Amino acid sequence: MVTPQVRLGEPRSPDRAEVNGRKTPRGRRAKRGQSKTKRDQGRLLQNIYEQLFAAYGPQHWWPAETPTEVVVGAILTQNTAWTNVERAMDRLREAGCLDWAALRELPEADLAELIRPSGTFRVKAARLKALVEVLWSHHGGSLASLLSGSLEEARARLLGIHGIGPETADSILLYAGGRPSFVVDTYTRRLLRRHLLMESHRDSEAVRQFFHRALPPDAQMFNEYHALIVAVAKRHCRARARCEGCPLVGLEHDADR
Ligand code: SF4
Repeated sequence: MVTPQVRLGEPRSPDRAEVNGRKTPRGRRAKRGQSKTKRDQGRLLQNIYEQLFAAYGPQHWWPAETPTEVVVGAILTQNTAWTNVERAMDRLREAGCLDWAALRELPEADLAELIRPSGTFRVKAARLKALVEVLWSHHGGSLASLLSGSLEEARARLLGIHGIGPETADSILLYAGGRPSFVVDTYTRRLLRRHLLMESHRDSEAVRQFFHRALPPDAQMFNEYHALIVAVAKRHCRARARCEGCPLVGLEHDADR
């Protein structure tokens, strides 16, 4: 998901430092080669959460009025900025099309036209229609039914729908269904990598399982945690890290990873 950009004017952190004539990575020096136990990882993930929450407070995600709006927004936000999603959602709302019955009746071409501001609108209209089709053909139009059953069953059901990938599925489960499915995105992987919790080659499912193993299945915490990672990524943990002033600067990290 691409959320609105936060533009703050933090100073850049210093470049690599010279220690005894050798370059060292920016940030608190990592102790490489030390494997962390599950308890260490859980403590560190909890610590990161607490420090981010203390710095930024509750993030009030997802920015939507109803679970239906969360689901529609989760599809519209694929590969676009949130401001574009808001414009598309406003058009759907004004047309009275932000409910499952209206979306079932609406021809795909009309839906595409309404969501045009969200970009790749024909593709997204087809994806929304695929979801609406499954919702009505197998669940009587009930989102609660679509998201029912064990977490992994519900997730597999969503992943079976055309155009719904892991990040979208987990966003729907967590923010529309209140299910404890951790949402993993590029920001999550970057933060874990720089805080020496995971190598960069691990796929999103491995990262998700990492959170699930290390933390209790607390949907409210997962809700805030993902939103807080997005917040710190926008302000500090960008492609080039700006560690100075970051709430996590006191934790072991390597900003060059
Ligand atoms: S989270 Fe903050 S302290 Fe950690 S690497 Fe990113 S910018 Fe630096």
